[in-house]
Amino acid sequence: MAVSRPDWTLTHEMVHLAFPNLTSDDHWAEEGLATYVEPLARARLGTLSEDKVWSDLMEGVPKGMPQRGDRGLHGTKEWGRTYWGGALFWLLADMRIREQTRNRRGLPDALDGILDAGGDIRVRWDLLRTLAVADKAVGLTVLSDLYREMGRKPGAADLNDLWRRLGIGRARGRVVYDNSAPLAEVRRAIVSAPRH
Ligand SMILES: [Zn+2]
Repeated sequence: MAVSRPDWTLTHEMVHLAFPNLTSDDHWAEEGLATYVEPLARARLGTLSEDKVWSDLMEGVPKGMPQRGDRGLHGTKEWGRTYWGGALFWLLADMRIREQTRNRRGLPDALDGILDAGGDIRVRWDLLRTLAVADKAVGLTVLSDLYREMGRKPGAADLNDLWRRLGIGRARGRVVYDNSAPLAEVRRAIVSAPRH
């Protein structure tokens, strides 16, 4: 008997296959990556709209914010921190790589670097090694730096400022875009950049 599943589950699982099986207590990195990348992959395939990508992120990410007593993403067992705190980590990584390379590189290039080094689900690596390999692939230290900011400390992202810089917001229940925002080009590249 065929079991019907939501169309995102296969893409989510595919993202896990293309990332090491982590030995460190960083489940958030695996689930956050799948949470962040899955809608982008579907948007590039044309099965999810750009509006839906951004509206789901604006709705989801606040659920991943640190609460009182938080000690960073490392070791977290909380659902919101694991999925949406993790998604924010990878969104910030994607933004910083694109900002620092003027959109010549993005998170997909860093992830390709992990795969090129043999880092798929069949190997067991810790997260720091995985991030270092990804950083090396794009010639930056964005991921290791972000881990220091968010992995071992609560991290403090100003979400209103984040959406403003990306040029996304809501008006009357719809997603609205500001193409004069500082990171409007980065925002466009995040959704449209082809995987290679
Ligand atoms: Zn998963």
